[in-house]
Amino acid sequence: MESKAKSLYVHVPFCEHICAYCDFMRVGYHPLLVKKYLDALAKQLQPYKNDRFDTIYIGGGTPTALHEDEFSSLLSLFTDLRSQQCEMTLEANPENFSEEKIKMAVHYGVNRISLGVQTTHPHLLKIITRKHQPADVSQVIELCIAHGLTNLSLDAMYGLPFQKMEDFESTLEWMIAQNIPHISLYALTIEPNSAFGRQRIEPVDNELEGQFYLRAIEILTAAGYSHYEISNFAKNDQMSQHNLAYWHYDDFVALGPGGSGKEHHQRYTNTRNLETYFNDETAKDERIELSIEDEMFETMMMGLRVKEGISLTRFYQRYGVDPKDIYPKSVKKYSDRGWLRVDDTSIALNETGRQFLHDVLVDMMGEVIKP
Ligand code: SF4
Repeated sequence: MESKAKSLYVHVPFCEHICAYCDFMRVGYHPLLVKKYLDALAKQLQPYKNDRFDTIYIGGGTPTALHEDEFSSLLSLFTDLRSQQCEMTLEANPENFSEEKIKMAVHYGVNRISLGVQTTHPHLLKIITRKHQPADVSQVIELCIAHGLTNLSLDAMYGLPFQKMEDFESTLEWMIAQNIPHISLYALTIEPNSAFGRQRIEPVDNELEGQFYLRAIEILTAAGYSHYEISNFAKNDQMSQHNLAYWHYDDFVALGPGGSGKEHHQRYTNTRNLETYFNDETAKDERIELSIEDEMFETMMMGLRVKEGISLTRFYQRYGVDPKDIYPKSVKKYSDRGWLRVDDTSIALNETGRQFLHDVLVDMMGEVIKP
């Protein structure tokens, strides 16, 4: 089978420990499970072995939780799937991204690292049960740069229990001082299936969460970062090409248990059950056929997240219509309000509009006109 998708997501479900807030598809590290996983993964990518991807994102879980020989086997699976300009991102945790693994990552073509920093305050790291220390982060950044991995992204979390505004500010300021090209923000959500959910930890209220978010925009844009997507900031145009594929609503392949992909007008989630995955790596938990109305709406939902918005040409090439004709009332309402900009080439929300994306989408959902 030949796939048209140009992006590939690989889910590595292993973690050395389970963080208190986590509700992702992950399991504790175990060498026997890793071996079976790598075998199943190699089988699952067989149908794509002649494809070349422009972006490959190896996420999790924690890919760097794998031991060195396993880590090397994992990365070696994808080397030949890279197109010439491929952005190959690896998610890494500071406590287990050793210099040896950094060298392996470079060897196999990884050219972008997304590092789970979250906060630079030891007391907050302890509360969210992350295992690294701030010094680990500095060391990993130094080693990555020393080995030529300069395209780095750091994750910063807000809304953590007992997190003060000045804690969050100093985390962002520390990140800025490292001269890192990309920063991603995450608001803590309390998921019922996480340890925090079971302990009935209360989330921060919406107003405070909003204050954290707006302060981050202020600090990061003042430091020269472009707020190119609702939760993402980049300097020198070093945006995440892989995530841009999601926001452009392009097709992408997902490998690994729990990974979600979209190909050929179908969205799917690979089985989350490891035993099922080991026996049948193609098993799915969910397959959803996407109608043209679904796809148009989801194109708006994803594309309005980004500053550049949605290309009218691309929308027309896909659906044979102009979004202004599909969502006329919403386009008028939010253009009149000054939140939506429509010109000859694109349709985009401004900074305020993006903060109210949910409201815009609810309106658009209510007025789907069949093309
Ligand atoms: S937050 Fe990340 S490192 Fe922590 S358990 Fe979840 S997937 Fe693993």
